[in-house]
Amino acid sequence: MDLTSGIAIDDIADGGMLAGEVGDEKVVLVRHGNEVFAVGAECTHYHGPLAEGIVAGESIRCPWHHACFDLRTGAPSSPALNPIAVWNVEQRGGRVFVTTKRDIPPSPRVQTTVNSVGIVGAGCAGNAAAETLRREGFAGSITMIGAEETVPIDRPNLSKEYLAGSAPEEWMPLRDTDFYRAQNIDLLTGRRAMQLDAKTKTLTLDDGSKRSFDAILIATGSEPVRLSPPGANRVHVLRTLRDSRTIIALTETNTVKGKRAVVLGASFIGLEVAASLRAREVEVTVVAPDQVPLGKTMGVEVGGFIRRLHEEHGVRFRLGTTVATFEGDRVILATGEPIAADFIVAGVGVRPRTQLAQSAGLTVDNGIVVDEFLQSSAPGIFAAGDVAHYPDPFTGNKIRVEHWVAAGRQGQTAARNILGRNTPHTAPPFFWSAHYDVTIAYVGHGEGFDKVAIHGSFDDRRALAAYHAGSRILAVAAIGLDRESLLIEKAMEAGDRGAIDAVIKGI
Ligand SMILES: Cc1cc2nc3c(=O)[nH]c(=O)nc-3n(C[C@H](O)[C@H](O)[C@H](O)COP(=O)(O)OP(=O)(O)OC[C@H]3O[C@@H](n4cnc5c(N)ncnc54)[C@H](O)[C@@H]3O)c2cc1C
Repeated sequence: MDLTSGIAIDDIADGGMLAGEVGDEKVVLVRHGNEVFAVGAECTHYHGPLAEGIVAGESIRCPWHHACFDLRTGAPSSPALNPIAVWNVEQRGGRVFVTTKRDIPPSPRVQTTVNSVGIVGAGCAGNAAAETLRREGFAGSITMIGAEETVPIDRPNLSKEYLAGSAPEEWMPLRDTDFYRAQNIDLLTGRRAMQLDAKTKTLTLDDGSKRSFDAILIATGSEPVRLSPPGANRVHVLRTLRDSRTIIALTETNTVKGKRAVVLGASFIGLEVAASLRAREVEVTVVAPDQVPLGKTMGVEVGGFIRRLHEEHGVRFRLGTTVATFEGDRVILATGEPIAADFIVAGVGVRPRTQLAQSAGLTVDNGIVVDEFLQSSAPGIFAAGDVAHYPDPFTGNKIRVEHWVAAGRQGQTAARNILGRNTPHTAPPFFWSAHYDVTIAYVGHGEGFDKVAIHGSFDDRRALAAYHAGSRILAVAAIGLDRESLLIEKAMEAGDRGAIDAVIKGI
């Protein structure tokens, strides 16, 4: 539909969308009251179809990974980094005409007493914070210190398309070095902050040099738990691009070696690794102490479905047991069963990297304890991402999550608060996990759930699991119900339990 030739405004419901084109560009019209917006139709994260998402106030949200864009400016929210295009719209005689693309001016220079920001950790949260500071008009200095040798990368992809061989390495950097140069963000890669003096906000780096800042964000993420049975030093973990490259190299030998893997852990990363190794025709056995994969976080119904899915793709499971020893090219389970293994990958959980915060005497309790503004116990020092232990308004609990989108959103909130905007962090946690052609979208935080209610059908790949504590819903996992997942996230944001129930009833 050519959106330049005019659409009757009554053809678009209030809060509704209409997909069309302007020239050869795909555009979505969105009606909000009597106002109509025209924006780019593709999410800038993974090119998801925005017209299949939802409108929430003056934002449009992507059904795939819940990226959010401002309808007036196109400004992105995690996981998207780039804005969508925005067009001018004219209304004449009850009809709407899309005209020219709008030039969005940069935000005016922000007035703040903060002249320098130090960000420790060049991951999802750190990067989102640096970009938000610049997008919102911060003209002072930004230094981002990252222990990995790369620019910030698309970490979730390390266990998905990249490991499976269907995404080239060029997809992995979030930005190239020119971007940071152009944004005047001083990115120090392969460098580690060793100590922090909270009073003077001074970081000591691994070469002994010291750098002081007006505000600091700690976004050090988490590190994989390593196993200790005899021989476990041969076990690979997956956190960095280097780790993923190492595992890929192990599968690419020209002999039969590299074709039999044992994956330790039946949680998200372990199972995603299993799926990606199957795409490389590696024989995979998953070993875990749990009775059901993902059982602790997702319940037995979702876990059982995911197990069947992996078995259909040839993954073998040895559950309710652990590895007793690692011997040559096999592992011996606690049951005594030997399993041939050319290589072993462990995905057995992560721990928040809190050493720096501890060195500064900040309050640490399962992560760096922060308030609703993501400020730590020391004024001017913030924490975001996997390392932050923060108050979640929807459940009323203090939580710490290990999710990509949550880390990005927290980085954005922390940046705004560094600029003095007093913005509480209200976004409910969201994560996704991909297994073959099935994606699980999860909103909320279900820790401590005592009941799982299933709606829809897993066989039809259209199902939703609601995690309850008593009569209260804490979280919802959805398969094939992306719009519903977005609507529930929006309802959680508003604290509107009635709206959550209504979405679930409609399934
Ligand atoms: C293989 C894999 C797959 C995943 N898949 C998904 C998924 O599908 N969906 C989802 O929601 N989440 C997923 N996650 C989780 C998600 O990637 C994390 O929640 C997210 O990366 C957290 O962001 P962060 O910025 O807090 O930490 P990170 O991205 O880990 O970044 C922290 C950075 O800080 C650096 N650092 C640490 N200490 C120091 C120091 N002292 N000095 C300098 N630098 C330091 C680290 O080297 C690291 O680069 C996945 C994670 C992994 C490993």
